[in-house]
Amino acid sequence: MARTAELLDGLRHALGPGGVLDGDSDLARYARDWSGDHVGAPLAVLRPSSTEAVREIVRRCAGAGVPLVPQGGHTGLVAGATPSEDGRELVVSLERMNRIRRIDALDFSMVAEAGCILADVKAAAAEEELFFPLTLGAQGSCQIGGNIATNAGGLNVLRYGMTRELVLGLEVVLPNGDLLEDLRSLRKNNTGYDLKQLFIGSEGTLGIVTAAALRLFPRPTRRETVLLGCPSLGDVIRLFGRARRELGDLVSAFELMTRAGVAAALEGGGQEPFTPPTPAYVILEASTSARVDLRAAVEGFLADAMAAGLVENGAMAESEAQAASFWRLREALIEWQVRQGRHLRSDVALPISLLPAFLAAAETAVRSLDPGLVLHAFGHVGDGNLHLNVMPPAGLADAAAEALLARCEEVVFDQVDAFGGTISAEHGIGRKKRRPFEARLSPPARALSLALRAHLDPAAMMSPGRLFDTPVRPGLAAGEAGG
Ligand code: FAD
Ligand code: ZN
Repeated sequence: MARTAELLDGLRHALGPGGVLDGDSDLARYARDWSGDHVGAPLAVLRPSSTEAVREIVRRCAGAGVPLVPQGGHTGLVAGATPSEDGRELVVSLERMNRIRRIDALDFSMVAEAGCILADVKAAAAEEELFFPLTLGAQGSCQIGGNIATNAGGLNVLRYGMTRELVLGLEVVLPNGDLLEDLRSLRKNNTGYDLKQLFIGSEGTLGIVTAAALRLFPRPTRRETVLLGCPSLGDVIRLFGRARRELGDLVSAFELMTRAGVAAALEGGGQEPFTPPTPAYVILEASTSARVDLRAAVEGFLADAMAAGLVENGAMAESEAQAASFWRLREALIEWQVRQGRHLRSDVALPISLLPAFLAAAETAVRSLDPGLVLHAFGHVGDGNLHLNVMPPAGLADAAAEALLARCEEVVFDQVDAFGGTISAEHGIGRKKRRPFEARLSPPARALSLALRAHLDPAAMMSPGRLFDTPVRPGLAAGEAGG
């Protein structure tokens, strides 16, 4: 205890006013994640405002044997950034490291500190008529450091790729306090291992990202958004294939909602998009900055898709407001889910062609556990990525619902295996999905991952228990590690 108090006193001095929150401070938002499903007990919250301050924190914590967990916007859904319940972990919040260090319009690049909110990164790019394509529901709260640590995806992945493809360089504080830095905005660099990739998607287990060089794109000046009603999920998949061929890289989003999803979204108000309702819905967005007649291209594509029977009904947005109303339907679906309380969230991905068969098999498997379970699938069908969520039957006691949802996850993941998919395409592993992740890892992949982790952080002081069951071993303090 005395050692911890000494550590915090030293950090208070090193980080200056507002640098350490503990005692009477309101720590609720650092303790509780966005969903409210995970609540921990931070020993204290550290708020560095420079890379040097992050290094200082890491060195001192390693020396004192106190584990820490980096935290961005705390919107991650797998208990990665949530401190442990035992009150032993320090949260390192990057929120005060929120400067855009530079934007270069000719290089199409930007250097942003890890604590920049994603929406602010996008806005800073837009001011220069540039575009940072990462787009997700949490963008008003999540931070670019969190996006990098989770290799976030989102609505525009099919055109621009995951975060991994959007990072040109990184600045990372390693668990021993060393700084790995390369913020050059090079497009091509073929010298040795691409070390930055190690940290992208590492969920705070290999180091703390403090800044990133990001890839920017021309800002789309034309955008067409259409809402389509399709006869079946199979037709949605065929429609996607056709869109890829006929509209090429103009397609920037292709999102699926089911009939049940739209009905749920409309519970809070709003109008049925088509009469009669259709079994499946797609929001297709095409965008470009090139001098092409985008509208004519999208209209031609739709006319052909309707003639081929892939689309029953469609509406093309005539204004930004109408486009926003299509997207609003999708947001309302998520809000509806949040109102349902605790439920199973998943972010599985499958080969696109197998999505209809997978969904049918998963539904049968889930309902065989309890016919009262309600499935809601929606997602980025263009990436083969489905949010397959399951609501427990109404009126079930908490503990029973919890146990039933755990069984649901198992049967859904069994189907994911049977169809050659992945159990997480977006949210990552954190603490929540650690067991199913570890169970599916091949021995060589597991050995290599653990060797990397042990080399960088032998005492498991950084994000212990995330991704792997790595208990803290303060005797092996990382300060003495080979680095
Ligand atoms: P946090 O939740 O704070 O942290 C996430 C993980 O990253 C933790 O393990 C944490 O320790 C680590 N971490 C955070 N910052 C750093 C850092 N600087 N250095 C090292 N490690 C760090 N995800 C998607 O991929 N696609 C989506 O479409 C999507 N939609 C979402 C919609 C909603 C409404 C919500 C609530 C979440 C959604 N997510 C989505 C999940 C989540 O928003 C993303 O995972 C996001 O990237 C997390 O960023 P964050 O700043 O909130 O990170
Ligand atoms: Zn998603």
